[in-house]
Amino acid sequence: MKAILHTYTCFDCDVNYVAACESGAYGQFILSSVGTSEQVYMNALDDCIYDEVSNYIKKMPILDGLDDSEHAEILQKVFKIACDKDSKGFYFDLYLAPRCPNCGSKKRYDCKITDPVEYVDLDYVTHTEWKNLSESEKNKRLEKEVNKHGPFGSFPSPDFIKTLE
Ligand SMILES: [Zn+2]
Repeated sequence: MKAILHTYTCFDCDVNYVAACESGAYGQFILSSVGTSEQVYMNALDDCIYDEVSNYIKKMPILDGLDDSEHAEILQKVFKIACDKDSKGFYFDLYLAPRCPNCGSKKRYDCKITDPVEYVDLDYVTHTEWKNLSESEKNKRLEKEVNKHGPFGSFPSPDFIKTLE
């Protein structure tokens, strides 16, 4: 999948670097590694694991009483555990700014499209490890991850907001 590159300026070391940025198109996500500058692409509309995890979340007793938008927020927060990790063993996460390849910082000034426009070929996110889990293992892992982000009914949690910074 070809994504448009953006130029970022690192807040901490002032180095310029390029990385893909969300296009804003419905259901299209660019997942960034929490530990490296690797990125992968996901189209939620044709990713069956996204649906599967969504259905698990809707059925979780601890999330009873939450509405659809709260379920969706939790889904986006915990979805990383259903995705294969990057080449160094770090999670890919939704709504995460790409890391500065120079100093590793997540803080950066606003990104802008490269001029002239450049593209990068991103791999699709994969779910090989997740697909090999049993139903009960999937449930157990999800519940553990969901529990990290409570209390429920007050999303986005302070923890969630931190990942957006
Ligand atoms: Zn930096």
